[in-house]
Amino acid sequence: MEGKVRAPLRAPAAPIARRAALGPDEAQTARRRWLPLVGMEGTFAPGREAPSAFSTRRYPDSELLEWVIVGGGIQGTYFSHLLIRRFGLSHRSIRVIDPYDEPLHRWKRFADNVGMTMLRSPAVHHLDLASLSLKRFAPSARLRQSADVRGERVLSFLAPYGRPSLQLFNRHAEEVIQRNGLGGIRIRGLACGLRLIDGGFEVCYVSDAAPETTLASRRIILAIGMSDQPCWPQWALSLRAAGAPVFHILDPDFSRRRMGDFREAIVYGGGLSAAQVALALAKQRPGRVTLATRHDFRVHLFDSEPSWQGQNFMRSFAHEPDPSKRREIITRERHRGSLTPEAREELDAAVAGGIVRLVRIEEEPSPELGAQGELSFAVGGSRIRCDLMILATGYERKRPGGEWLDRAIGELGLPCAPCGFPIPDPSLQWRPGLYVSGPLAELELGPVARNIAGAHRAGARLEYHLLEKARG
Ligand SMILES: Cc1cc2nc3c(=O)[nH]c(=O)nc-3n(C[C@H](O)[C@H](O)[C@H](O)COP(=O)(O)OP(=O)(O)OC[C@H]3O[C@@H](n4cnc5c(N)ncnc54)[C@H](O)[C@@H]3O)c2cc1C
Repeated sequence: MEGKVRAPLRAPAAPIARRAALGPDEAQTARRRWLPLVGMEGTFAPGREAPSAFSTRRYPDSELLEWVIVGGGIQGTYFSHLLIRRFGLSHRSIRVIDPYDEPLHRWKRFADNVGMTMLRSPAVHHLDLASLSLKRFAPSARLRQSADVRGERVLSFLAPYGRPSLQLFNRHAEEVIQRNGLGGIRIRGLACGLRLIDGGFEVCYVSDAAPETTLASRRIILAIGMSDQPCWPQWALSLRAAGAPVFHILDPDFSRRRMGDFREAIVYGGGLSAAQVALALAKQRPGRVTLATRHDFRVHLFDSEPSWQGQNFMRSFAHEPDPSKRREIITRERHRGSLTPEAREELDAAVAGGIVRLVRIEEEPSPELGAQGELSFAVGGSRIRCDLMILATGYERKRPGGEWLDRAIGELGLPCAPCGFPIPDPSLQWRPGLYVSGPLAELELGPVARNIAGAHRAGARLEYHLLEKARG
């Protein structure tokens, strides 16, 4: 099967040594890619594994894959691209396990649910390996035409930082995936176990086709993101259990397109997604949407300061040895629940025009469910009623992965900080051969770890580490 591979790991070309010979585009890419290596100094002491950490199965060398990536969203897809194109691995030697056939399924679903049209991140953050690839991407005539017809900012970049439109970003991502054959290395499934074997790991996964299957690989990357844990306040969970029309905009099973009609909607949240979904619903029913927020709007262009993309902030972060202090820095520096100046402007205009109603609530709401399935809750002296409530309350703050990862942590003795998140080494290994990315790499990569920039930063660490290893 797919595991019959032994493509040797080829060291990536040495970018620093080669820099003199690079053209201006390549030089810029190299500069950006190697910036995040600050913090590679450091040591690592993994815990002790339990006897149950070992698989009882034996895998011949010929069945060992080189890499298995768990999670095929933005980050996992980027890593598969990097491994194939930069590290020279064969397609046969890599597999990406993800519950969806289509790469970036959740990214696309959430973006559509909230109704976003422009990305928050700059044009250099994308799935290709050259910085300017998205800037230079020429969409097909058909797409350009459809963009003209809709008359929206469909294929544009927004200043400052050239933030791309969602359509452009997605078309470019699709082109990168197709050009590099990244769809063909995916396995549809949900990872549910991780064990040690001679020379690597055994990953168990479940799928519709088979109850439990295993793959053996020399190395694993965990790229599972946060998307399995939308944050549901307790009162909303109770309402949902009672059959109330309450949904979370970041629930993987929720689709705004399939939601049906509503008479009055309340959006609960105060960040970018809340503003965007309120505006999107108001297009459907102007004047019938209320945005209920518990805090004043926090306006920030990005979800962390751009200085986190550079050396200085990362250097001081890397010099902080205490993981609890690193967590404090991340919490302080991530602009959780913030929105962009453009979204604020658009929302203000909608409120001024009576298209969206804005209410500020001081305490957690305690809505009541009426006999006809409608919801109502008190705000000040009056009551707001609705037949649709959408939560835009982000993700839970806990470590993602759930039960199977908890088990692996216990059995493999994987070190975690008091906040529950991994303490990987500077090369992002949680134990030799087991790599983390996204939120799982946050304590090493800082506040941008969850974003596309975090994937680039993780990729650079991986590359540096493997290059150093290959050099001996
Ligand atoms: C509305 C919205 C807008 C955003 N805009 C931006 C932006 O403009 N710029 C930016 O940089 N970031 C943005 N972000 C952050 C964004 O989520 C990340 O950049 C990106 O989606 C993270 O990619 P990921 O691969 O870590 O997570 P995801 O895209 O969520 O992918 C993770 C994948 O792992 C899979 N998975 C989970 N558990 C398992 C398992 N056990 N086995 C197999 N597969 C598993 C999931 O099903 C999913 O397919 C935005 C987020 C949201 C919600």
